[in-house]
Amino acid sequence: MKLRETLCNISYGMYIVCSRNGSGTDTRCNGQIVNTVVQVSAEPPSLAVSIHKRNLTHEYLMASRVMTVTVLNKDATLAFMGPWGFKSGRDVDKFRGVRTLMGRTGVPVVLDYGISYFEAEIVGTMDAFTHTIFLARIVEAEPIAPGEPLTYLCYHELKKGKTPMNAATFIRAETPVATAPPQPAPVHSAAGAAPLKETTAMKKYTCKLCGYVYDPAQGDPDNGVKPGTAFEQVPDTWVCPICGADKTEFEPES
Ligand code: FE
Repeated sequence: MKLRETLCNISYGMYIVCSRNGSGTDTRCNGQIVNTVVQVSAEPPSLAVSIHKRNLTHEYLMASRVMTVTVLNKDATLAFMGPWGFKSGRDVDKFRGVRTLMGRTGVPVVLDYGISYFEAEIVGTMDAFTHTIFLARIVEAEPIAPGEPLTYLCYHELKKGKTPMNAATFIRAETPVATAPPQPAPVHSAAGAAPLKETTAMKKYTCKLCGYVYDPAQGDPDNGVKPGTAFEQVPDTWVCPICGADKTEFEPES
């Protein structure tokens, strides 16, 4: 069976689905990237969305029975999408620094990199093994900004984005089968020895989990790594600013 090859031929878009939990001043909100959003009927207009049962957004959808869906622009960056796809709302506030509007369902709508949005009320659920399929009736639909929708294909092939393990379309082959071998520490030349070539010491490294590229020329100043720092010199406590993976999940660009 050619499962991997054939499943890769199914087309998807890329969306941010948000929901809420609690009420009044105790209302908490969360959202995540989802590629499995489809229109399933025209009368009434309705959507189906598949969400992993372990995700915080799943918990909120079950509690509030309402959601917003932002259709992402193809210009959306990995840096923007990273927290929505690779981090949990249990650990970070994904809305920090993100433009939103409050929907009529009481759920925020993500506006950044959005071309349109929907609001929907959940009318049914179906168990789908690791996931739940939410059937939701659309109650609002508006454009946000001109643009073209980001497709799953573009996300993977042009942006080199990865699929989180809790995505409905995760394929096990994407799991790193082994951590990258430790990179040799830069060798400081002894007296009279040739200096280490800069091209070796200053290679870019890519996160195997989310596709983030560490560029030594840029460093990661937001997290204390100055521009001009070779990857090997980055502290072992440093983690991928997009998905939180540690240094062993990075591999040098070929
Ligand atoms: Fe990463």
